[in-house]
Amino acid sequence: TTVIDDVPFALKPMNCPGGMLVYKSQPHSYRDLPLRVGELGIVHRHELSGALHGLFRVRCFTQDDAHIFMTREQIPDEIAGVVHLINQVYSKFGFDYFVELSTRPADSMGSDEDWEDATNGLKTALEKLGMPYIVNEGDGAFYGPKLDFHIEDSLGRTWQCGTIQLDFQLPERFNLEYTGADGEKHCPVMIHRVVFGSVERFIGVLIEHFAGAFPLWLSPVQAVVLPIADRHADRAHEIEAELKKYGIRVKVDDRSEKIGYKIREAQLQKTPYMLVVGDKEVEDGTVSVRHRGEGDIGSMELSSLCDRLADEIKTKAIK
Ligand code: ZN
Repeated sequence: TTVIDDVPFALKPMNCPGGMLVYKSQPHSYRDLPLRVGELGIVHRHELSGALHGLFRVRCFTQDDAHIFMTREQIPDEIAGVVHLINQVYSKFGFDYFVELSTRPADSMGSDEDWEDATNGLKTALEKLGMPYIVNEGDGAFYGPKLDFHIEDSLGRTWQCGTIQLDFQLPERFNLEYTGADGEKHCPVMIHRVVFGSVERFIGVLIEHFAGAFPLWLSPVQAVVLPIADRHADRAHEIEAELKKYGIRVKVDDRSEKIGYKIREAQLQKTPYMLVVGDKEVEDGTVSVRHRGEGDIGSMELSSLCDRLADEIKTKAIK
């Protein structure tokens, strides 16, 4: 811990204990379950300075963490729900992935029965979903078995990102409880899950996977308007304003540079769309459109261009 302005601060290595304190902050009945509590939790690792590596290995990162509290009967549905969520998210980015089931390690807590129930809960969920998986004997967490999701990038490398850990132990250790339909106190079971894992690392994987050429919906700048000469700048700003109405992230490059130079630069920045405006376009209200990958795709009415981009963004097209 360290003291700043008389207030003690400490570095947090994991989010789980906090998640359990949140659960304990009020009484629960079986009707509250499953209770799914998510957070973007910042956690710390004292990595050696020589081991730090871009966004991939850092000392402070953000986990897209969630803790799901539930009854034993709810295990299969909750696992299936998380698997479905992970599948949905990875598919949006166009990633292939495989699943690994890690079972009880030698050094672990809990009864054989709990471990068997937990492991079968994970297997049943995967089998119901028809999802193939690899078994990794003895590689689970000390408190329960887990599913790891490994995504494959465009260079064929794999990255472990998502995990689903089923945990019968920590809720007991923290004395978590809920009132059952029978009026008695019971201990809930919990799932720890992340989809991205480390948000920073996932962004690193995305940058390398797309080699910086993000799909339109992910691009920080989606279109750049390029006036050919200074006299076209006003029209360029009108086009910018129109695209912004559609929620498109757009910039104008109105520097007094040659058009070829501005196109090359936008191309190097991997901006998806370059919209060239000259005398002809000012006159007939069109834009001359270049796509980063496809080159010149011809002249378009401003409104149909806006529709095209808005649609490509909405469908989260990968190209
Ligand atoms: Zn946790």
